[in-house]
Formats: sequence, structure tokens, C-alpha cells
Amino acid sequence: MKPAIWLPMALLAFTGAAIAEEKRHADAHEHGHGTFRMIIEDDHAVMEIEVPAADILGFEHAPSTADQRDAMAEAAATLSRPDILFATPESAGCAIGQIEIGFGATGGHRHEHDGHADEDDHDDEKHDDHAHDDHDKEEDTHSEVTAFYRLACEKPEALDQIEFGYFKAFPAAEELEVVILSAAGQSAGEVGPDETVFEIE
Ligand SMILES: [Zn+2]
Repeated sequence: MKPAIWLPMALLAFTGAAIAEEKRHADAHEHGHGTFRMIIEDDHAVMEIEVPAADILGFEHAPSTADQRDAMAEAAATLSRPDILFATPESAGCAIGQIEIGFGATGGHRHEHDGHADEDDHDDEKHDDHAHDDHDKEEDTHSEVTAFYRLACEKPEALDQIEFGYFKAFPAAEELEVVILSAAGQSAGEVGPDETVFEIE
């Protein structure tokens, strides 16, 4: 059972757009590249990421081995720490509220397949090294991981930057496109392993 969630209309519209975007691009995403969106309102903020499952898990199919299930559990635990992945300034006094993590097609969602999945050459794939640098060939499945966070902030006006521990936590990630909306306007740009701090205008 999900608790009732209050969402302002602006956020509902925004989330709807994000979902439509995901449907359009789910079969054409680029591994290593994801999006981070944030909306700052009067007393709270919401953050949402949408990234290729390859960046988070190292695979984009339903887990079929104990190692893959472990990788998923570990990823879920890591994704549950927005205070590390997407750190807000202490002065803003943000407390983490609701967290939702979605594993898309990797989350046990059935994928059209007759018979056994191709066993490819990925048996030894390790989550924490660069095992998927050699994934140039198209896989027949792509899957996104999404995460949604709601923060209650004492001083949202003090939200002047986000520090992305995300790239340390998920070394396969190369870039996040960042869009942040607040009463002051929109800030947009990119962050990556070499530039982990995003300044909110
Ligand atoms: Zn993919």
C-alpha cells in the first residue's frame, strides 16, 4: 500500500512529461547518460532521476543470477541515500521524506521472450568495474532506473548547489543532464565524474 501523496499540480504536469519522455526514449538511451530533475517549492523540493539501468546495475534485463539480485539490492540501498548521491547544502535544512525507486524492465517485469534468454558472454560481468565498456553492440532490451525523492527543507532559498556523489557511487555513469526549477527560474546544465557540483542560479 502506498501512502497518499500530496503533489502540487505543477509537479504532476512535470512528472507526466517525464514519463512521456521516458516512453519516447526508452529504446534509444545512451549508456552512461541520464537525467536529473529537481523542483524547489516553498517548503520542500523533489528530485527525480532517470538513467539507463546499465549505469546503475551493469545490466538491463531481469536479474537471473544471485549476483545480479545482489547487485539490484545493493543498488536499491545506494539509491536510497539521496543525501550522499545528490547532497543539498546543510544550511537548507532538508530532511528526506518519501523515496520511490523503480527498476523498470529489470525489476522483474516480464519481457517478451520465447525460450531461454541469450546467455551472451557476460557471465563474469562485475558491477563495479568497467565491464560494460565493451557493450557497443545493441542489446535487444533497454531499461531505465528511476528514482524519486521528496525533501522537506527548512530554508529552500539556501539551496544554491547540489553535490553529486552519484558518480562515485555508480562509476559507469558518465553524465547527468540537470534541470532545476524554482521560483527564481530554471537552471540547466550537466554534471559528470570530473564536475560533481552543480550551482543553482
Ligand atoms: Zn540500454
